[in-house]
Amino acid sequence: MSYTRSYQLFINGSWRNASGEAPIPVISPVTEKPIAAVASATAQDLDDALGAADRSGKAWAMLPPNQRGAILIKASKLLAEKIDAAAKDLSDEQGKTIAEATGEFKRTVETFEWNGTHAERLCAVSQIDQNRTIKPEPAGTVAAFTPWNYPAVLIARKLAPALAAGCTVILKGAEETPSAAVHIVEALEEAGLPDGVVNLVFGVPAKVSTHLLASPIVKILTFTGSTPVGKHLVKAAADNLQRCILELGGHSPVVVCEDADLATAVPAILEYKFECAGQSCNAPSRILVARAIYADFVARLTNAARAIKIGAPDDPATEMGPMANARRIEAMQRLVKDAVERGARLELGGARLDQEGYYWPPTILTEVSSDAKVLHEEPFGPILTVAPFDDIQEAIDQANATEYGLAAYFFTEQPETKEALANGLSAGAISVNFLKGVSADSPYGGIKQSGYGYEGGEHGFRSFQNLKLINEL
Ligand code: NAD
Repeated sequence: MSYTRSYQLFINGSWRNASGEAPIPVISPVTEKPIAAVASATAQDLDDALGAADRSGKAWAMLPPNQRGAILIKASKLLAEKIDAAAKDLSDEQGKTIAEATGEFKRTVETFEWNGTHAERLCAVSQIDQNRTIKPEPAGTVAAFTPWNYPAVLIARKLAPALAAGCTVILKGAEETPSAAVHIVEALEEAGLPDGVVNLVFGVPAKVSTHLLASPIVKILTFTGSTPVGKHLVKAAADNLQRCILELGGHSPVVVCEDADLATAVPAILEYKFECAGQSCNAPSRILVARAIYADFVARLTNAARAIKIGAPDDPATEMGPMANARRIEAMQRLVKDAVERGARLELGGARLDQEGYYWPPTILTEVSSDAKVLHEEPFGPILTVAPFDDIQEAIDQANATEYGLAAYFFTEQPETKEALANGLSAGAISVNFLKGVSADSPYGGIKQSGYGYEGGEHGFRSFQNLKLINEL
């Protein structure tokens, strides 16, 4: 089969085809047909990547941090120059709108820039007292596994701090959305990154991760994806005691209190929920509303969600594109069917659009039984559940009633209520009276089954360092 575009592996500073395996097709979420193909790494390719990362490690670690930072800053500028082309490719493969894809690449640029700018400061030695020094050192070669929902910014959040800290990286990009990884690695190459410091591979995920984690060359595993896969990778990393940073799933609540300004809350929830067709780990998925305003809230939410314009991602009028792949459509069907069979009321949506493409409309469920799968499994799609609460403790208990603990949101102006919710909600990150993605300068990490470790800011940077303690009499 011939494809219009073929994406290659980048190993030891050269782009190349895989040494044997057949390429993997990239399917358009709009046409459901192949639009490109991506090379699938063999064991030999992965060994080559490991060797290149290992050999280039010492020189990269020895390079002064400000020089490493300068390469990242240059790469961020080069990426910014080609943002329109990169966003179009991402939108074609993933299904998010051009505006969403452009926004994602802006965050990617910002992340490379932030880590480049702070490289020198975060690699500097510090004194505990006059006899004791802390010397941060690069932790070694990183195996980074990145998913298809935000394939640009989630790469940046791993790659930029790892490189700035002086680590070499073997990056597994997402096979379903390979162009983002290719654009980023091309920018680094053009910015002067030495050969072997970043190696980009694609392939059969289980084969790639098993092979890389079996190597003692790899010192750090960083992964964004589902909780079951994260647990599987931690087990594979156990033999070599690789440090693990895991950004896993979420099932984020929004608590809407009686005093909330619904004119602000409803559009804020909808805008963040339906970005990327709901396929964000920190998208809100369960809304808990004070009973006094519950009926009004459901009516406003449903009316506003009904007005969201679904369509082709490259149509500027589109507000929500298709889902990324057929697996997500099957998951939506399964979750809605299960909830309705257990007595839920379908306020809006609930069935795939009758047209070509993986289109699933905004779906709102109320009166959802507490044992429905949609309240426990990460929906990772445009489904929202809404339920009333009678007092704040009940809201906190309901909000915390999942295994996940990534993000939580609430709307209130009352200082005591704010404090009770900020203290009571079990989540790695809480946003008050707004919903927004994380910026490059702040730490972000889940608790409970949402993972551990941090990405972003100084704490994310430190994930890729060993802190050597030097004591002197
Ligand atoms: P999946 O669990 O098969 O894969 C999730 C991600 O992990 C993909 O990027 C995949 O390539 C990768 N992966 C799978 N097996 C792997 C392995 N053995 N080694 C290395 N990487 C591996 O599911 P999916 O259908 O691709 O995605 C759906 C689920 O994944 C969602 O329900 C969601 O929970 C989760 N997910 C989460 C995020 C996030 O941002 N936290 C991103 C993508 C997917």
